Parts: sequence; C-alpha cells; structure tokens
Amino acid sequence: PSQTLPQMMSASIKAFGPRPALEFFGAVTSYRDLGEQIDRAAEGMRRLGVRKGDRVALVLPNCPQHVVAFYAALRLGAIVVEHNPLYTARELRHQFENHGAQFAVVWDKTYDTIAAFPRDLAVEHIVSVDITTALPFGKRVALRLPVPKARASRAQLTSTPQARHPLTWKALLDHRRISRRVAGPTIDDVALLQYTSGTTGQPKGAILTHSNLRANAMQGRAWVPGLVDGKETFYGVLPLFHAYGMTLCLTFAMSMGAKLVLFPKFDLDLVKAAVRTSPPTFLPAVPPIYDQLARSALRGSIDLSTIRFAISGAMSLPIATVERWEEATGGLLVEGYGMTESSPVALGNPMGPTRRPGTVGVPFPSTEIRVVDPDNPTIDRPLGESGELLIRGPQVFQGYWGRPADTAEALLPGGWLRSGDVATVSEDGFVTIVDRLKELIITGGFNVSPSEVESTLSEHPDVMASAVVGLPRKQGGEDVAAAVVLREGASLDGESIRDFCRARLAAYKVPKRILAVDELPRSLIGKVLRREARDQILGR
Ligand code: ATP
Ligand code: MG
Repeated sequence: PSQTLPQMMSASIKAFGPRPALEFFGAVTSYRDLGEQIDRAAEGMRRLGVRKGDRVALVLPNCPQHVVAFYAALRLGAIVVEHNPLYTARELRHQFENHGAQFAVVWDKTYDTIAAFPRDLAVEHIVSVDITTALPFGKRVALRLPVPKARASRAQLTSTPQARHPLTWKALLDHRRISRRVAGPTIDDVALLQYTSGTTGQPKGAILTHSNLRANAMQGRAWVPGLVDGKETFYGVLPLFHAYGMTLCLTFAMSMGAKLVLFPKFDLDLVKAAVRTSPPTFLPAVPPIYDQLARSALRGSIDLSTIRFAISGAMSLPIATVERWEEATGGLLVEGYGMTESSPVALGNPMGPTRRPGTVGVPFPSTEIRVVDPDNPTIDRPLGESGELLIRGPQVFQGYWGRPADTAEALLPGGWLRSGDVATVSEDGFVTIVDRLKELIITGGFNVSPSEVESTLSEHPDVMASAVVGLPRKQGGEDVAAAVVLREGASLDGESIRDFCRARLAAYKVPKRILAVDELPRSLIGKVLRREARDQILGR
C-alpha cells in the first residue's frame, strides 16, 4: 500500500464526491458531505488537544458518526480504539485501563458509565452521540437495540462521579474545516487498536497500522475482482467495532466509492425495509445471518437477488447454508478465514467455480502460511497432516497493546503469526480449519475436535445447534459433553442422541453428558462461546 487510510478517503471524496457514501435509515451522506464532516470533527478534536499517537476511543454502534469520528481521529494521526458498546462496565473499564485514551466518542446510552470511570483513568473529553439524530428529519424509526449491560452494573464503578468534560456531537462539529498544516499519519503509523473477540480469554488489543489495514482491503479487492468502483451497495450488518466489519464493510466500501448502508444491528425487518430502496450488491456476514436471510428469501419475503457476492468468516460455514443461500439468491457465498491479528482476512476461497465449500480456501495475495507442531513451531508438519496454522503477510499486526508477553507468544521471529487454530492443507493448497487448539478436548490420550462432534450432532433430526466441550475429570483428562438446542417440539432423549453418535463416531468422541438449553451463549458477532457453554453444563 502507498496510502494511509485518510489519504485513501481523500482520494475517494475527490473521485466520488456527489455519490452516496453512507445510508442510515434512509438518510444519505455523500462522499463530499462525509469529507466535510470528517474535517470539522478533526478540527474539533484538535482544538481539544488530540495529537498524533493519542488514542481516541469509540464506543459506538454502526452509525454515520462512527465513520466520521474514525476518519477524523486518523486524519490527526491519532490511534482509534474500537469498543463493543454492549460490553459491561467492567469489560469497558478493563479496555480503558489498557489503552489510556483521553478522548472518547460514545453512544449516549453508555455515557454515564464512561463518565463514572474512576479518577485514575485518563479519559477526560467525552463526546456523547445520539444516533437517532442521524435519522431523516421527521422520521421516527423504532430502534430495537438491546440496552447496554453497562448500565446495570454502573454502581460497581465509583461512588463519586468525576468531573469530566461532556460534549455533544453537534458541538464537536461546530468548527470550520481543519487547517491543512496538520501533518497526518504515515503509512507505518498505528491506525487502530482492535480488540479480539475474547473467545478464549480476555480480549486483547491488536495493534494495526495504516499499512496493515490498507493492505487487507487491497487483498480483499483482489479476492472479489468482480466489484466495480463507484457502483456497489454494501450492507454493513456486521459491527464496525469488530475487525471483520471494520475492514470488509467500512474500509473496503470507502476504498471503492461504494455506498455503505449501515445497520446498528442485524435485524431481518430492518434489512427488509432497506432492500426495497437500496438493493444490496455485496454482503459480508456470518453463517447465522446468511441462514436467516436465505430462509426468508426462500419464503419469498425478501428479494436478495441483487447480491452478487457474499462472503462468510469468523466461524465455520456449514455447506447446507451455502446451498440454501445460493438457491435463494442466485449469487455466490464464499468462505474466508481470518483473525483480528491479521486485519483480519488471511485466506479465502476463489470467487468462482473453483471454490471448495467446507474449506477456507487459499492464502490471500502476498500471504504465506505454514502448518507446524504446536509444541514446537519451528517444526513443519508434512503436507496433509494437521497442526497449528501460522500466517505471514502485510496484514499481520504489530503486537498487543501493553501486553508484551502475549505479543511474544503470538508473533514468532520472522514475522509469523500463531493463529491458535488447528488446520490441514490439501495437496492442491486448500486449507481446512479443524478447531481451535485451546478447545481440543483431551480424553485419555486422544484429542477430540469439538467441531467434529458438533457437526455429527447437527445431523440428528432433533438437534438444531450444539456446543461441545471438555469437562475436567477428577482422575485427569476430560469428558466430552454437549449443550444442545433442540428443534421446536422435540424433547431431550440423551440415550438416542448418544446411539446416533455411536453409529458415526469413535466411542471416545461420544458425549458422556448432554444438556438441553434454550440458546447457546454467543458473542455479538454470533460465535458460539464454548467456554460459557461449559459453565452452563457445569451449572455455574
Ligand atoms: P480471542 O482471540 O480473544 O480468544 P477470537 O479468536 O474469537 O477471540 P477473533 O479475532 O474475532 O477473536 O477471531 C479469530 C478466530 O475466529 C480465528 O482464530 C478462528 O478460530 C475463528 N475463525 C475465523 N474464521 C473462521 C472460519 N472461516 N472457520 C472457522 N473458524 C474461523
Ligand atoms: Mg484469537
């Protein structure tokens, strides 16, 4: 890459000025207007002391202000830190302790929480954003957003709310455009701290440079060559505060002059309403979203035939979902793989007849992979055998903010990123993800892959979804156990499910304990949290 993110944005504003850049509940912002708002917000931040290298925290759902604040901070050379606004007060506080931002732009529903952080936290200026002000004048839309958990636990924080400087979004933008003398960032400066999903432990802040993020958008472009500059409509149903949505919705759309329709959360009714006036052409999403949309399209209640390309990542994509989607839309649904630490995409299936459902495809351009012995990553595994996947490329991060020990563990000499995932590579180079290393179940010397057991369970007519985990045994090792969501009307018959598994799996892989649950614990992006499922089974 030769451009920083704000340089890329400036080029798009110049090239696509009057074209729509963002749409939010029918309100459209052109590239030119977006540029104007970015300039004003940047000047507002500069006057309040934001300088190069400072962290600017965003605690926002998807909304136009999110995009404006993101590019405004980058324009000053500041480092954006993204947060999930639905995190609890405790979770948010951990992150603020980690990055030490003095400046924050937050959803008004989280304002009280952040303003009440203890005095020793650096945050000083807090811009509060009412996202309903971005709706078209006179139009009231019911935003059925979940209430942030943060609110409930505010009492835990501090007894004396601190004197911090509140500001409205309108006041932040109440400036003329930014002085041209402000030197922006260079390509190797840090652009973003993006926290990992926290599936295996506490979320860690991955340090990503302009070069990392821009590289991944360029690699993405090579992946989907059929996209046309200035012509596409992207649907932003994934949160921008997660690496997947940040790169494949936001950076990707802005780099090619697309219109990005923002949704504060995925909701079938919101998507249905938008499709009528702004038919989508490109959709990055996750399997549960594709499944829901495809079922609705097959019933004839939504027209998705304008979507030419759909990409899936973050968790494995069932082949049944691919078939359902392609039947419902006539377009392609193709799986890729990535992690926050690789900006995020590292591998993808070809966008055409050579793609291979059930695999995550081949390395992105300029990306190398290895499959190694997890106990000694200098030893490569023979082709076809499983091992830990390592990744090297221009999208690989610089380390975790304030966590040198974790960085040393994840980044090996020579720039290799340890994925923590077990993978195999076929003769012709297609990669299959087996499981997360940390989630493999050790039973009496054998390793059980929870994904394999889950996929067998999903074939049982009564089982809709499952999470398979290991429960510690007193005498050492683990027992295989499963939390299952049953189809409506079905009741749990553990013995019949076990018989079903016995007919298809080696005895040591058959779950010893099966618990029926109403719902599996999932992250906001829809990943099954096996750690929490384990607590569910243990009755914690
Ligand atoms: P944490 O690192 O905090 O434990 P996380 O790894 O879930 O959380 P992310 O960076 O959001 O945080 O997710 C990356 C992980 O998602 C990968 O390491 C992999 O386990 C999983 N993943 C991504 N794409 C796929 C895919 N196509 N198939 C299977 N797993 C995937
Ligand atoms: Mg991870």
